[in-house]
Amino acid sequence: MGLFSNGREETVFRFKERSRGARFAVFALLLLATAALASGCSITEPVFAGAEDKVKATATTGMIADIVRHVGGERVATVGLMKPGVDPHLYKATKRDIDKLTEADVVFYNGLHLEGKMASILEKLAKKQPTVAVADGIDRSALLDWGDGTGQYDPHIWFDVRNWIRATEVVRDELIRLDGAHADVYRANAGAYLRELEALHEETKRKIASIPEAGRVLVTAHDAFGYFGAAYGIRVVGLQGISTASEAGLKDVSQLRDFLVENRIKAVFVESSVPKKTIQAVVDGAREQGHEVAIGGELFSDAMGPEGTPEGTYVGMVRHNVDTIVQALK
Ligand code: ZN
Repeated sequence: MGLFSNGREETVFRFKERSRGARFAVFALLLLATAALASGCSITEPVFAGAEDKVKATATTGMIADIVRHVGGERVATVGLMKPGVDPHLYKATKRDIDKLTEADVVFYNGLHLEGKMASILEKLAKKQPTVAVADGIDRSALLDWGDGTGQYDPHIWFDVRNWIRATEVVRDELIRLDGAHADVYRANAGAYLRELEALHEETKRKIASIPEAGRVLVTAHDAFGYFGAAYGIRVVGLQGISTASEAGLKDVSQLRDFLVENRIKAVFVESSVPKKTIQAVVDGAREQGHEVAIGGELFSDAMGPEGTPEGTYVGMVRHNVDTIVQALK
């Protein structure tokens, strides 16, 4: 509303001294503007209203937005696109999301085709403004192959906490590049968060190692935990493959059922951003063959929990997953 109020009225007064025609034209304009504001449809509030003196940052996933908030602190206004429980493989940007992306000083995204349906938008954006894939900070040798012969990498990098340490450094360095006057703030903020992540990495290693070795098998709906398994020494078996874009076929369901029965696996896990029915079909199949499999609880895979809960942060989501896995398999 502040857009037209005082400035426009002053203009009207100044025009009073001129011809009646001009006065009428200004009056008509004012009426039109008021009508547009009242209907609320043709004038949209800027995404970063009130944050003009800050660095304006937009992040795709909640996990990345969490990094930016930690490192940016008071200096950065952070907007996240994907809400809790949202599947990034299938996410399409809305009209308002385009505003959030184009009005930002910098855009942070995961990369490695995680945001599969946003590829062309991110590509166009990169030609106009700083657009940073946090995965680019991770040495290629530390990336896992997609495993389908296409030469692409598994995009679920955040479940090896060491990768998220790299991602945090990428965000820190980019904010320093954009806003060098506050480099000390970003270094201090990042330092505190990095220490938290180092501790989380050690804690995760210790907890997973407490599961007897034969029972260290993580069965879940899609292969989001490849990095987790490699980093912390737990075998990961997925049903849907790496992207949720391909529906699980019946062949996969029966293969996984046979695997559960043969290996006497005690528990399988559901994921917050993947439909439960797929994993339920496997559990039912195993029961028909006389092997009881428990659903070990819900894991956060590609999105964090609700805002304001411990799982609504990256650290909280990893800790929730680790505790859920340890409890079901120990
Ligand atoms: Zn995924």
